[in-house]
Amino acid sequence: MTSQLAGKNIIVTGGTRGIGRGITLGLATAGANVIACYRTEGEHVEALAHQLKETPGTHRLIRADVTDVEDVERLVDEAGGGQRTLHGLVHNAGVISPVPFAELTPDEWHRVVDTTLTAAYLVVNRALPLLTAGSSVVAIGSRAATVGIPLRAHYTAAKAGLIGLMRSLAKELSPQGIRVNVVAPGTIETEEAARDSSEQRRAHVERHSKIIALRRYGRPEEVANAVAFLLSDQSSYITGETLYVDGGI
Ligand code: NDP
Repeated sequence: MTSQLAGKNIIVTGGTRGIGRGITLGLATAGANVIACYRTEGEHVEALAHQLKETPGTHRLIRADVTDVEDVERLVDEAGGGQRTLHGLVHNAGVISPVPFAELTPDEWHRVVDTTLTAAYLVVNRALPLLTAGSSVVAIGSRAATVGIPLRAHYTAAKAGLIGLMRSLAKELSPQGIRVNVVAPGTIETEEAARDSSEQRRAHVERHSKIIALRRYGRPEEVANAVAFLLSDQSSYITGETLYVDGGI
């Protein structure tokens, strides 16, 4: 992970579980000051807080629902406390559900679109006054946005929307020196998913891996490495791009 992130203040939404946890830990280990938000309290939050104490920098884990305007404003206020500026923003929070399109309710459509797409608008919009020249915004998209998946029309629509939002912001915010990109993972094996050791899952992973050039699922830290690259000055001439971290699908 790049050392160019030392001392940078970076927000990570949904930063306490799964890929987000990998991003939080990766950035903290690289020396960034991470402000990560989450929705659900639990032992995993305390465990992460404990792990973060072993890393350089000052980190904060804040309970804030990214679909709630007041929560997002509180998150940004906390990030900007003490006149701090923001060098990076990662919108990782997202939800998914398998629903046949004919049974997709407006509530479920909104839950998924609000968390992925509307929250991206909200978090970047509210954080904008804190983002300095040279800062970088990364949204976590999905390989599924361009290939589609049955039973996930709401999810793929939201992720595809993220690409359009980020490309437009890349153009609109470039005069302010702000770069904006998407990291689009393929299938990533989070700790939670790996806990399912059933025969059924093993067979599914084996079947599914055949369509991946590298013949395996990705790991959260492999997504975190791509995010760190796009947050750092090593990617200073990259904006409006979608970087696929999918093992070659
Ligand atoms: P997880 O479900 O493991 O983690 C999602 C995280 O987002 C959790 O920390 C969760 O917090 C948080 N979150 C969800 N809703 C909200 C909300 N309203 N406000 C604040 N935080 C919220 O997901 P993954 O790690 O698997 O996925 C992370 C991102 O990567 C998502 O955007 C997902 O779409 C994307 N992705 C994942 C892939 C994969 O294979 N895992 C593949 C492609 C893309 P809490 O714990 O409080 O619920």
